[in-house]
Amino acid sequence: MTEPDPASLSFIPLGGSGAFGMNCNLYATEDRILMVDCGVSFLRVVGGDNQITMPDPAWIARRREKLVGLVLTHGHEDHIGAVAAMWPQLRCPIFATPFTAHLLRGRLASAGLASVVQLIEVPAGGRAKVGPFRLRFIGMTHSIAEAQSVVIETKHGKVLHTGDWKLDPDPRIGPVTDEAALRSLAKSGLLAAVSDSTNATRPGWSTSEAAVEARLTERIAAAEGMVVTACFASNVARIQSLCRAADAAGRSVVVLGRSLHRMINAARATGYLDDLPSLVPLRHAGYLPREATLLLCTGTQGEPMAALARLAMGRFRDIRLTPGDTALFSSKIIPGNELPIEWLHRALTEQGVTVIHEQDDPGIHASGHPCQDELATLYGWTKPSMVIPVHGTHRHLEAHCALARQLGIPSVKIENGVILRLAPGAATIVGRVQVGEVLRPDVEKDEHFAAAVKAEIERSPTSK
Ligand SMILES: [Zn+2]
Repeated sequence: MTEPDPASLSFIPLGGSGAFGMNCNLYATEDRILMVDCGVSFLRVVGGDNQITMPDPAWIARRREKLVGLVLTHGHEDHIGAVAAMWPQLRCPIFATPFTAHLLRGRLASAGLASVVQLIEVPAGGRAKVGPFRLRFIGMTHSIAEAQSVVIETKHGKVLHTGDWKLDPDPRIGPVTDEAALRSLAKSGLLAAVSDSTNATRPGWSTSEAAVEARLTERIAAAEGMVVTACFASNVARIQSLCRAADAAGRSVVVLGRSLHRMINAARATGYLDDLPSLVPLRHAGYLPREATLLLCTGTQGEPMAALARLAMGRFRDIRLTPGDTALFSSKIIPGNELPIEWLHRALTEQGVTVIHEQDDPGIHASGHPCQDELATLYGWTKPSMVIPVHGTHRHLEAHCALARQLGIPSVKIENGVILRLAPGAATIVGRVQVGEVLRPDVEKDEHFAAAVKAEIERSPTSK
């Protein structure tokens, strides 16, 4: 079977199940389809530049008249990075929280699509009705602001699509996970939890952002010379923690790197980072005493054009590294990036800089994904009839299924492209659709893209 049964509720992952990245999931009922997330992945090319890829949109593009909406759980690239490139083939309204919408609006504007895409803001914890799907956001903690789980309610029952999450008692930005809203799902009955498997192989509980802030504060207070820090630009809480730690140590912060500036602007525009200590512009950095300076840089993965690599190569006129400086990587090594990171470490240490990474001090970084005790806690609160692990390799999905078995909850291990009937009746794989991984066109650099999209919309307006 290659079509979902209109008389049932089906789940069809187009990306993100069986591999990390390019999360893209479909729910289908009553001959209508809802997409949840639309992200990219990175294809590592030996001896060449990494390529950005996205799920093959062919199957859903042929059914776009049935696609009633795209809902975004949060603003990470592996959840929103394919939206601008894929939207012309989807042509549906998009639903996102204000912070996620702000990030996406910038990307759509770069692609010339800001005026054609209907982007509907739903507040964190808010609700929306999209065709036969009633949606409810539930605020979760993660490593970016406004991460939301989506409760998808249909006439066949409710599904909890968790997105990326952890249970952080002190996330430093935004509220804690909405336990009451999650517990309420158990009362009304939950068909399934479609849930994050990233850390399903790890026992215990993830580290809180508050603990990371405390450790960074100690490290930065103890450092001499200039402190250079790097974190993932999208981790707004970590940016705030590094700025606060700098402030506590009497250091002014200089931000280096476009994506950090972009993220700080997005956060401020949507009500975050209001009380950040004032940032010093790069052109004034040379006037600051070294021991009163903290640089906050992009480039944790050794990207050659990012701020940290350029700093290591002496490319900034106003700032130079000298022996006695300290570089703190408040980040993890993404598998596949070991070589460029190793190069960066060497470039820094050769200049007498002390490099401290997560491997040297695990306290300076925390994952944004749930370990086994957090998964068990969530399922204790929500009591799903079934767990469907997504967001991970087969090893992670398998570990997640094993955990569900221990908890006495049925689970189904799936892969991209299956049609999993969730209801009525027992969950069953009933068919398959075309899936694959394709290169993401660089629509933000294509000056003809927007005009071609607008011409196509005029030529064949959608009937939705
Ligand atoms: Zn994420």
